[in-house]
Amino acid sequence: MTDKHVYLFDDDLGDEYADMQAKKDLLGGKGAGLNVMRHLDVPVPPGLTITTATCNHFRTHDGAFPEGMEAQVREGLKTVEEEVGRGFGDPKNPLLVSVRSGARMSMPGMMDTILNLGLNDETVEGLAEGSGDRRFAFDAYRRFLQMYGDVVLGVDHSSFEEVLGNLKRELGDGRMLDSDIPVDGLEELVKRYQKLIADEGSAPFPQDVWEQLWGAVAAVFRSWDNQRAIRYRRMQGFDDDWGTGCTVQAMVFGNMGQTSGTGVCFTRNPSTGEKMLYGEYLVNAQGEDVVAGIRTPLNITAAGAPPGREDETLERQMPEVFQTIVDLCAKLEAHYGDMQDIELTVERGKAWVLQTRTGKRAAHAAVRIAKELVDEGVLTREQALMNVDAGVLDQLLHARLPTPEELEKEGTYPVASGLPASPGAATGKIVFDADQAEEAAKNGEEVILVRRETSPEDIHGMKAAQGILTATGGMTSHAAVVARGLGKCCVAGCSDLQVDYGKREVVARKDGGHAVTFQEGDVITLDGTHGKVYAGALDVVAAAKVPELETLMKWADQVRTLKVRANADTPRTARLARSFGAEGIGLCRTEHMFFADERLEAVRCVVLAGSPEQRKEWLAKIEPMQRADFTKIFRAMDGLPVTVRLLDSPLHEFLPREEAEHQQVADALGEDIAQLKARARQMHEVNPMLGHRAVRVGLTMPTIYEAQVRALLQAALDVSADGIDVHPEIMIPVVGIAGELSRMRKLVDATAELLFAEAGRRVDYQVGTMIELPRACLVAGEIAESAEFFSFGTNDLTQTTFGISRDDAGRFLPTYVDDLQILPADPFARLDEDGVGELVSIACERGRAKRGDLKLGLCGEHGGDPISIDFCHRTGLGYVSCSPPRLPIARLAAAQAALRHR
Ligand code: PEP
Ligand code: MG
Repeated sequence: MTDKHVYLFDDDLGDEYADMQAKKDLLGGKGAGLNVMRHLDVPVPPGLTITTATCNHFRTHDGAFPEGMEAQVREGLKTVEEEVGRGFGDPKNPLLVSVRSGARMSMPGMMDTILNLGLNDETVEGLAEGSGDRRFAFDAYRRFLQMYGDVVLGVDHSSFEEVLGNLKRELGDGRMLDSDIPVDGLEELVKRYQKLIADEGSAPFPQDVWEQLWGAVAAVFRSWDNQRAIRYRRMQGFDDDWGTGCTVQAMVFGNMGQTSGTGVCFTRNPSTGEKMLYGEYLVNAQGEDVVAGIRTPLNITAAGAPPGREDETLERQMPEVFQTIVDLCAKLEAHYGDMQDIELTVERGKAWVLQTRTGKRAAHAAVRIAKELVDEGVLTREQALMNVDAGVLDQLLHARLPTPEELEKEGTYPVASGLPASPGAATGKIVFDADQAEEAAKNGEEVILVRRETSPEDIHGMKAAQGILTATGGMTSHAAVVARGLGKCCVAGCSDLQVDYGKREVVARKDGGHAVTFQEGDVITLDGTHGKVYAGALDVVAAAKVPELETLMKWADQVRTLKVRANADTPRTARLARSFGAEGIGLCRTEHMFFADERLEAVRCVVLAGSPEQRKEWLAKIEPMQRADFTKIFRAMDGLPVTVRLLDSPLHEFLPREEAEHQQVADALGEDIAQLKARARQMHEVNPMLGHRAVRVGLTMPTIYEAQVRALLQAALDVSADGIDVHPEIMIPVVGIAGELSRMRKLVDATAELLFAEAGRRVDYQVGTMIELPRACLVAGEIAESAEFFSFGTNDLTQTTFGISRDDAGRFLPTYVDDLQILPADPFARLDEDGVGELVSIACERGRAKRGDLKLGLCGEHGGDPISIDFCHRTGLGYVSCSPPRLPIARLAAAQAALRHR
């Protein structure tokens, strides 16, 4: 028996594919959605889907279809023919189909699509006759020839434009609209396009409709591996082995006159999350016109239209169709339990749904929608938690501009207005193309990518830019959709602008007022929340509160088992961390306390002291300052644990650099500068990251750690005397040998005992270690004998496991990840489960075997990355610790991990 390569939209996929994700894996998102919708009685034109596995067969067999696929497609199309009452290739009554790509995750605009397939010199006559509209038939034919010639036969898009332009000029007006070309003009165009394809294409245009179909399916499969699709997958972390599904669906036509149209509709406002239909449509247009952003479309709802233009909406012009769409939207949203992004075509007054998918949305809209769907009883709290992408939450904390009204009060007016396509604020220099944006970003420059419209080729530039500004296109245009997905600020459809790529300038003429010209390199500021463009760099303000986030966080806290702590080393960040829900400090890096200007000289004297006694003297000066810092931090964290890491920095970092600094230290120590310089030279290190740092300093210059321990325990004694509930955890960094920690533990305990004896009081404290070296993971059992807790310093552990320097990785890691695909992601951002993760697991196991109540946490950058947090949950860690603004991400990701692995 041959494999099943083809499924009809009406096919019951059975229990094996009951789950939506399983359907998507089999058919791609588009095919799965169409199958589901047909079963929900949504008006969907009939069709079939060729599986993603078939695509993968094609890709791995030199572009050959698997045995049986063609026969299954022919069989499936018979059913489609029966339903619509037309025949594929029937010269009298032809069935036309679309052939589309669709991967298991949405990859908007990245792969190929062909519409109107099934037209040839004979069937076009049948279509003309049947529709009673010859112009429509030839318009469809010339569109098909162009798409097919471009996508399947490799004729450059611009060649078609040139032929079209020539014809218009011959017809007397080079600038005439396509819709004004007369019928015989279109017939002539069809002939010329066929000649163009014969001259420039890889083969002549096939008149045989089946040959057309196989060519289109192959092109869709091939487009999985085009450059922009590959690039997009890299960015999104999608797997290259998924393959795309291919749907073949009966065409419906949005270009059959004034009662026809095409549109895209979100079931809620994707920018604000407000519960209202939000969409755009073009009358008498087909297919990708809306998404491509070539014409600026009209609104679907009157409420969404600009004031005074309510009548130019689908709601007012076609109220019955509008009502059908309202009902369909409600049905689809309720079924999927999430905001949908729906592609519609209206053919002579009848609405058809061509696609539905989970709508991309701005971060605060995501939070609001999740919360409101629970309020409406559509989702449970747990479902709502799973619906929000934890990674986007930090966008909520991004800076914004003051509102336009507030700015106006200060006399600052926008130079142009457009659509608020993606919220936030961005300032940068104008660039006009994506490569330039990427280049500038590499050089550390902040740029705004200004385009008439964007296309999938521009993705890398959009990613590199601070913000995106386009002159045409709507809220569902490529620029808007992609910017929201990337979390980039975007103003789209800014018709006040005229972009001149040739002159490298853009002219802004607000409301027809006086013109302001900006050259490439000029600085502008975008307000993506309100759709405004300002000249120059404006000051930004901190993000506004999203009230729904509080609720979502509460729900998350109820289900997560992993605790979240913050990395904080000042009283201010400690307070901030608490306000973001931190349940303790997981990492207080004490060297940051040493770097303050007024302390640096004393620290240099400590490091360069000629004798332990002299070192002690200088430490005595620093101790009270540290104690004061600890006092404030302990107060801020009343009742919560605070992990204080003793000095970690390589001593090298504290050495004076300038002559004047050397002199200063020499004077302070009462030494000759030459002698001091000689000592500093001895302390110079070639590879300080692996050198005299952390516990190695603690062991060779024990007075430094003693002083730190005294400062923090004295602070703990002081605040506990005031009734503060204090839980200090003393952490020793970069331990790799059990003996290092056992000695340090003795030092800490002895110092503590002395202090407590002097004070006549005690406080509880714990001693533990960071695990940052592969050896430490392997001998974790021995280390655990002296440690009450382990905190995985996965920044260093990644560095030491890979042998890749944290500071220099940027030079080659992007090549590893993006181009060579040796690594799926940057291991300094996303924990490398196979290597580093394995070491973490080993350390947990061996540590716990020795000490059952060993506390386990992670405080590297990975503590704020959702996928790494999932790993921490699975591995049984007790907490993750991250920078305060990432706490909401950590809380949600921890909840999602708990739900996922329940
Ligand atoms: C680590 O190494 O993961 C860590 C948290 O410490 P630091 O980044 O200060 O080296
Ligand atoms: Mg470290």
